[in-house]
Amino acid sequence: MTHVLVTGGTGFLGSHTIARLLSAGHTVTTTVRSLARRSDVERMLAVAGAPHAGSVSYVEADLTSDRGWEEAVTGADYVLHVASPFPAARPGNEDEVIVPAREGTLRVLRAARKAGVRRTVLTSSFAAVGYGHGRTGQTGWTGRIFDEDDWTRTDATAGRDVSPYIKSKAVAERAAWDFVEREGDGLELTVVNPVGIFGPVLGPDYSASIGIVHAMLTGGMRAAPPIWTNTVDVRDAADLHLRAMTAPQAAGQRYLALAGEPVSFHDIALTLRARLGEAAAKAPTGTAPAWLVRLLATVDPALRETVPQLGVVRRASNAKARKELDGSPRSNEDAVTATAESLVRLGLLSG
Ligand code: NAP
Repeated sequence: MTHVLVTGGTGFLGSHTIARLLSAGHTVTTTVRSLARRSDVERMLAVAGAPHAGSVSYVEADLTSDRGWEEAVTGADYVLHVASPFPAARPGNEDEVIVPAREGTLRVLRAARKAGVRRTVLTSSFAAVGYGHGRTGQTGWTGRIFDEDDWTRTDATAGRDVSPYIKSKAVAERAAWDFVEREGDGLELTVVNPVGIFGPVLGPDYSASIGIVHAMLTGGMRAAPPIWTNTVDVRDAADLHLRAMTAPQAAGQRYLALAGEPVSFHDIALTLRARLGEAAAKAPTGTAPAWLVRLLATVDPALRETVPQLGVVRRASNAKARKELDGSPRSNEDAVTATAESLVRLGLLSG
């Protein structure tokens, strides 16, 4: 039997990953920032229908402190390091996300090395791949298709699209590769780089990425801004973590996790209307022009974050994950529909 540590069991991807591991017959320890959240994780595992959920061990550990990590990795054959700050709003100071992301990753890797863990799989992001490259000739339907050889630029000349969160993911992933190369002492590292994660939520504390579908269903998004995103269903992202954990050829590799082609927010709204009917009656029917979004952004800090993304289409390839890890992700439409259906089913659309 294989024992796996999953960091961040309270999270959207973390909880699904635990459920997937339990279904596959592994035993699991997970870290939570406070043991008071144990019951929340148990409830999410019950919603996911995970077997043997009562067998999961819980250890209190925060990315910003050394306490708990040694205990958490004890007995682990593999570590899936999923936890990282993913704020819904831009932090006042970028170090609020960069420092926990980078230092937390190094804490987990040091503990894994000391405990003789076989392999650590780090949840990075497309945020560490496809940003900071500027607009001209680099993105768009006919432009570049990002793959695992690409890196987000974080230097002073990087584009305005590199938010503190995006930078935190690129900096943390770089730090992880540098660590295993310089002082890994045989510890294997594999990285999964998901795009925007959708799919079914398991409880009320869902990820910031779900906010788009939530806003569409509740009428919080009156018109779709001209923004494109890539999607991956959380169940496929979790599944790819498991494949990346054990596939011999995955050691030392990065894998993009995505459904396929980018979708616009307008496309997402149309999908929700077509698939959910009355439950999606408030989803936007039209697109807001970019000039209007820019104008509104001058008074709305939340919209300001979206301005560098207006009209930018970032295409990426899932060919490597398909070929080397046999990944076969659900479609964009299925991923966003599953999010919407779960929000309805769990009664999470009020407020
Ligand atoms: P989420 O639901 O917000 O989960 C984030 C997890 O990280 C939570 O368990 C959270 O714990 C934990 N965490 C945050 N700061 C921490 C700290 N200082 N110490 C310990 N734990 C901390 O978001 P998610 O979507 O599942 O994200 C999981 C991973 O996927 C992250 O690495 C994220 O960057 C990556 N990712 C997400 C997306 C997406 O679209 N959702 C796309 C690409 C990559 P609390 O519950 O206590 O806050």
